[in-house]
Amino acid sequence: MGLIIRSSAIHAAGCYTTTAIRKGTRVAEYTGPRLSKQEADSCYEQLPITYLFGLGDGSIVIDGHCMAMFINHSCNPNCETSEVDGRVWITAIRNIAADEEITYDYCLYDGGDDEAVCNCGARKCRGTMYSREEVKRRKALAKKALKKVVGKKRGKRKAGRSAKTPGARSN
Ligand SMILES: [Zn+2]
Repeated sequence: MGLIIRSSAIHAAGCYTTTAIRKGTRVAEYTGPRLSKQEADSCYEQLPITYLFGLGDGSIVIDGHCMAMFINHSCNPNCETSEVDGRVWITAIRNIAADEEITYDYCLYDGGDDEAVCNCGARKCRGTMYSREEVKRRKALAKKALKKVVGKKRGKRKAGRSAKTPGARSN
């Protein structure tokens, strides 16, 4: 098995296999220094692109320094990640042909204002690299924020009307 990095239609660079890979094969390990979430946040707050991989409950992240950090997200990926004893493996979930780009679903979370737009080109692309759960959470948050704004506006209008109405009635 040989992995190479070259330009990708999904994002600047991607990871490709030079040989066919069988379903179930460990393609790469996501390696790099382990940081606490706080350390990672303070290091990378200002950077638009990070290569952080959350372990377990997300309190520890791997600061990617490896071949695997070039693997792009796809909504219809050929690999998945799994955590085994604190190590993260990228494993083929189907047979992959030589020259195919290696991808997995990033299932992003905790992205702040970043929309994390997806350009994977899959037929069922969900348009973002966030996990389905995170997309739901964000939609709920946006709805809440919208309700607050609408609620405030309505409140103001009501107050205006009720101030005028008594005056009109008394005439
Ligand atoms: Zn996509």
